[in-house]
Amino acid sequence: MTACLAIDIGGTKIAAALVSLNGKKATVVQRMQIHTPQNPSAEALDNALAEILQHFNGTFEKVSVASTGIIQEGILTALNPKNLGNLAFFPLEQSIAKHTDKPITLLNDAQAAACAEYLLQPDEIENFAFITVSTGVGGGIILNRKLFTGKGGVAGHIGHSLADPNGELCGCGRVGCVEAVAAGRAIAREAAKWDSPCEPPEVFNRFRQSDEQAVQLVEKSAKAIANLIADLKISLDIQQIAIGGSVGLAEGYLDTVNHFLAQLPEIYRPSIVKAHYAQDAGLIGAAWWAEHIDQL
Ligand SMILES: [Zn+2]
Repeated sequence: MTACLAIDIGGTKIAAALVSLNGKKATVVQRMQIHTPQNPSAEALDNALAEILQHFNGTFEKVSVASTGIIQEGILTALNPKNLGNLAFFPLEQSIAKHTDKPITLLNDAQAAACAEYLLQPDEIENFAFITVSTGVGGGIILNRKLFTGKGGVAGHIGHSLADPNGELCGCGRVGCVEAVAAGRAIAREAAKWDSPCEPPEVFNRFRQSDEQAVQLVEKSAKAIANLIADLKISLDIQQIAIGGSVGLAEGYLDTVNHFLAQLPEIYRPSIVKAHYAQDAGLIGAAWWAEHIDQL
């Protein structure tokens, strides 16, 4: 059992900790957290990573980093690199390798969360997916017990599959992505146009009080997610899917997804569970993947 220095680079914070895995049990110790600088520069991220690696110097056998965006051949990018601002094409692997000679593993944060959730599933689950419905819609796919990243690190960006060809323009540049229909940002955009405008948490309050406008908006989102689930089942034979995120875990949302899923033929319906992790998914998932990337 060797400790992995796991680092989770998010839009607002960078978390780091030593993670040890013993079978399905993950132990997370020596947590450290720093704010991701607003409008961060490549130099600021480089310095932040240096600070973390120096802080943990001598305590780990490997490094694994979960990051927002896409990791392509060690470089940080995104579906639409403009969204990363100054961090587009940041040489993540190189930045870490300057401070350690230990092995380095890199993956996307939703892919890491998929790994963390997969760790909790029963042994018979070989093909698994994680969907987070939050500000955006992200995900990760486990095939044959292994995280599927693809050659370019893009695999699992299921929020950018098509939900509505006549839908809104998505941040990735495509029209009508699941994210542009189902995500918290899409819900916020629609609810802002109402006679009595509100934020997503209030949309869910009204939804639970059977307010017609709110019900329609939440159902539109849930139906897009139900169809995404069906597409994953029929294209990859996914056995089980964990749903997370602030929208995904909002009271009543998953029931609505299941309601739409139940209208489809059985072959389109994997079993659905609620995601377990709130905070540590990126750290634990990154550590799990660093341990399994070569073994499977
Ligand atoms: Zn998109």
